[in-house]
Order: sequence, then C-alpha cells, then structure tokens
Amino acid sequence: MTTIIDGKALAKAIREDVKKEVLELTEKTGVSPHLVVILIGDDPASHSYVKAKERACKNAGIRSTKLLREPNISQSQLLDLIGTLNRDDDVHGILVQLPLPKHIDENQVLLTIKKEKDVDGFHPLNIAALHMNEDGILPATPKGILTMLKSTNTPLKGKKAVVVGRSNIVGKPTAALLLKEHATVTIAHSRTEDLSYHTRDADILVAAAGRAKMITGDMIKEGAVVIDVGVNRMDDRLVGDVDFDDLLGKASFLTPVPGGVGPMTIASLLENTLACYKNLKGIARD
Ligand code: NAP
Repeated sequence: MTTIIDGKALAKAIREDVKKEVLELTEKTGVSPHLVVILIGDDPASHSYVKAKERACKNAGIRSTKLLREPNISQSQLLDLIGTLNRDDDVHGILVQLPLPKHIDENQVLLTIKKEKDVDGFHPLNIAALHMNEDGILPATPKGILTMLKSTNTPLKGKKAVVVGRSNIVGKPTAALLLKEHATVTIAHSRTEDLSYHTRDADILVAAAGRAKMITGDMIKEGAVVIDVGVNRMDDRLVGDVDFDDLLGKASFLTPVPGGVGPMTIASLLENTLACYKNLKGIARD
C-alpha cells in the first residue's frame, strides 16, 4: 500500500505555527517580519511563484514587498539595490527570484545578499554552513523535502538515498541534508549511466530532474519512499518527475504533484523569513 504524503496539510500546519509566532513577536516588538522580493522581467512562472509567496506571507502576518525590475536592469543596478536592502533595518529577508536574465551573474547576486537576510539559503556561506554541519539558513525546497521525509517516521540513518538531479538549489543541498541525517547518498544526473541501477537500490528516492514522469514503477525498490520535486507541464496540466500511477502500490510513501513539495517549499520560506527576523532582532531561537 502506498501512503500519499499530503504536502498541503503539512505545509498548512507549518504556516499556522509560523503565523502564531509572528503575531506574538509582532505584538512584543511592534515590528512584523518584512520580506522583500526582487522580481526581474515578465516570466509567467516566476510571477506566479512570487504571487504565491506574497499570499503566504500575508496570511502569516509577514509583510512582503515586491520590487519589479525591467529585464535590462544592469548587474551594478541590481547589486546596488541589494546593498540598499542589506542596510535597511526594516528588511529582514531578501529574495531574488530566479532565474535571472543571462547578462546577470547569478553567483555574484547571491553572494551580495547579506547572509543573515538570505531567506532562500543560497548564499555561499549558508551553503557552506550546511556542508559543515553549522547553523545557517537551509534552502527552502530541500528543507521542505526533509520535513516531509521525517513526517513519515522512516528512519534515514544508514538507509540508501538516491537524489536524481544535482542543481545548486535542489539536488545538491538535498543530498547534503540526507547525508547529515546519516543516509548513504548517491547523486544521479543526466550523465549517470544506467540510472535504474541506482534508483532500484534506493530506500529513499528524491526525483528532481525536471523530466515529466521519468521515474517509472520498474525503476524503484518495493517499499521505497519517493519524493517527487519535479514540476512539468504536460497536456496543460502539471505533472512531476514520477509516473505517479505507476508507483502506486509499489512505493511505501509518495508525494503528489501538485500538492506535495511545492506547498512545503513556501512553508519553509516562511520559516526561514521568521528565523532571519528573529536572528536580526536578537530573539533567541527555540
Ligand atoms: P535543474 O537546475 O534543471 O537541474 C536538473 C537536474 O536534473 C540536473 O542536475 C540534470 O543533470 C538532472 N537531469 C536532467 N535530466 C536528467 C535525466 N534524464 N536523468 C538524470 N538526471 C537528469 O532543475 P532544478 O532547479 O533542480 O529543478 C528540478 C525540478 O524540480 C524542476 O522540475 C523544477 O521545476 C522543480 N522544482 C520544484 C520546486 C518546488 O517547490 N516544487 C522547487 C524547485 C524546483 P545535469 O546536471 O547533468 O544537467
């Protein structure tokens, strides 16, 4: 039997916890957390992600400001804008929506965001903290994935985990988090030979390749826990990297798309924004 991990319900519980704490701290300090999102250009997917983030902030009592910029913004203009936000004590979180136009050096942008306001957890020092087992802001999607895995009560220690995808924002940090949980981790990517050989061995499989339905039932181990990160458009609907119906009955736990990792990413972003605010205001962490 396959249990579907309800990302929506898990995310709702997290959002409610965040909201409760935000309201308490706002009352105590007189200042609510404030997230600034920089959105460049008119990519419809980016606009819709930002809209969802703004809505979630509003519902949690977090102020959000969207700064829209033209796609021809120069690198130095963008870095100056980030510098201004870094220095603004009323800004507790800064998020630059990716992808950026080709002429902008993404790494330089991520490096410029003050690490204490880096709600996405993409600053090199936050990434280093993850790899060095130190406190830092975790990237939202991997953090949400780990929360989902823990919700299943599946032991991770000593288990074989395979992450399909090696991006800086999903694959690599997810693998690092699983390693931190003492799983034995393999990262697969587009040059991996015989992908099924690896995936069939996985107790935990995270699919983050951005290839619609590429993981089929014959590619997984009976009883594997499968987290589907992919978001792909197919025949006018959204599907994951996993062939959901094909895995039903074979996976022990499975996340749906939509309603799985997506809502958890947003919930984790709210948690990160609250954590940055508390840190900047000198409020002790729980
Ligand atoms: P990405 O930067 O395009 O990375 C995709 C990775 O998958 C790359 O490492 C690539 O390998 C690998 N890959 C591609 N085709 C493959 C194949 N046939 N076999 C094995 N590996 C393959 O994408 P991303 O930003 O990590 O996102 C991955 C997916 O997750 C996308 O569908 C994205 O929309 C989704 N996503 C969802 C959320 C959410 O909140 N739900 C958040 C972020 C991303 P190479 O490195 O060799 O090219």
